[in-house]
Amino acid sequence: MAIRNVREIGEEVLTKKCKAVVEMTPRIKELIEDMLDTMYEANGVGLAAPQVGILKRIVVIDVTGEDPHILINPRIVETSGEQVGPEACLSVPGKSGTVKRPNYVKVVGLDVNMTEYELEGTELLARAICHELDHLDGKLYVDKVEGPLQDVEREEEEEA
Ligand code: ZN
Repeated sequence: MAIRNVREIGEEVLTKKCKAVVEMTPRIKELIEDMLDTMYEANGVGLAAPQVGILKRIVVIDVTGEDPHILINPRIVETSGEQVGPEACLSVPGKSGTVKRPNYVKVVGLDVNMTEYELEGTELLARAICHELDHLDGKLYVDKVEGPLQDVEREEEEEA
């Protein structure tokens, strides 16, 4: 188990477009395990590789704490509806803001065996998928927030 340092807003690595993963390697497997450890340690619901300083198209998401999803080279293929609600980010500590997202998302990506699969999510899972995939293109939720960012007690918010 290894916890990696979570990069914070202002660091250039969070503004870059990530590169696709072309093959699974022991290093990438270790990165994914560390990303899961880091997400759970921080009580986050998702984490993208650039948040630990790696510019690869990999995200981990777990909105329930017992159902981890690993998505490599993910792409959203379908969305519908909308939800407006609070969002936070492990890279923007102590803050939260209101963001509009689709209420349903279908994403296609690769698992750790580089096998393609489909993941559908609604509500928080849909929100987390959108939030994490934005990180892969160097985007943070603070650019989409409606109204001001709020100060929050860290442990009360679900962060990604
Ligand atoms: Zn985030």
